[in-house]
Amino acid sequence: MEAYPRPMGKLIGELSKLPGIGPKTARRLAFYILGQSTGEVKNLAEALTEAKEKIHYCSICNHLTAETTCSFCRSPERDQDVVCVVESPKDVVAMEKTGEYRGLYHVLHGAISPMDGIGPDQIKIRNLLPRLKDEIEEVIVATDPNAEGDATAMYMAKLLKPLGVKVTRIAHGLPVGGDLEYADEVTLSKALEGRREI
Ligand code: ZN
Repeated sequence: MEAYPRPMGKLIGELSKLPGIGPKTARRLAFYILGQSTGEVKNLAEALTEAKEKIHYCSICNHLTAETTCSFCRSPERDQDVVCVVESPKDVVAMEKTGEYRGLYHVLHGAISPMDGIGPDQIKIRNLLPRLKDEIEEVIVATDPNAEGDATAMYMAKLLKPLGVKVTRIAHGLPVGGDLEYADEVTLSKALEGRREI
């Protein structure tokens, strides 16, 4: 005999696939959702499908957007001569939290990792090149401070320096082997401030 009606088991099953959600939390969430009004549950379901359907990559920088281009690429208030290269959209959020960076972004959606068979063609580097024809003077490589992030930074320096653009890497005040996304604002601000040419 099943402890829950089948649809409830299915809901718990789906919720427990989410990161950081164990079976206990999934159960608690499922009971919470069942206790909500039909309207509230419909809003949640709609928010999930709408986010998935409408959000895609910015045609210029690969950040997430519901338009053709993202709010950073569209904003005339951002510094147009510097691009910060990060591994994921979550890193854009982390950089913005520092309040120190006013330039543009380029999101790679990954990092070079020969061990995992991920080369430059498996991440979104190529569409950075056409952008460099414009007024961009500096590319700040803010990939994670680990082997993959370093390999990506080295590759980018080799690729971009012949084009006459200054390539810098954020300083290693960040915990080595760590993840940009989890660095606190002060540490990330300092790392940005202490960036060096590579
Ligand atoms: Zn963009």
